[in-house]
Amino acid sequence: MTMERKVFQLGDVVKMKKQHPCGSYTWEVVRTGADIKIRCTGCGRVVMLPRSEFERKMLKVVNEAPDNNR
Ligand SMILES: [Zn+2]
Repeated sequence: MTMERKVFQLGDVVKMKKQHPCGSYTWEVVRTGADIKIRCTGCGRVVMLPRSEFERKMLKVVNEAPDNNR
């Protein structure tokens, strides 16, 4: 059993194991802490979940953050 520590930080775009109903697999981390808040890059929906659950559901960090020109 490997204890893989998933590293991520605010602003990272992460890929989840499960596809969101809107068709997107990637989410942007908009808040970190005991709870992680992520925003779907497809539909903009924001979800908050415990860090442990987030780490379980996320696949990897894809640092291809789309340039939103905000
Ligand atoms: Zn979505």
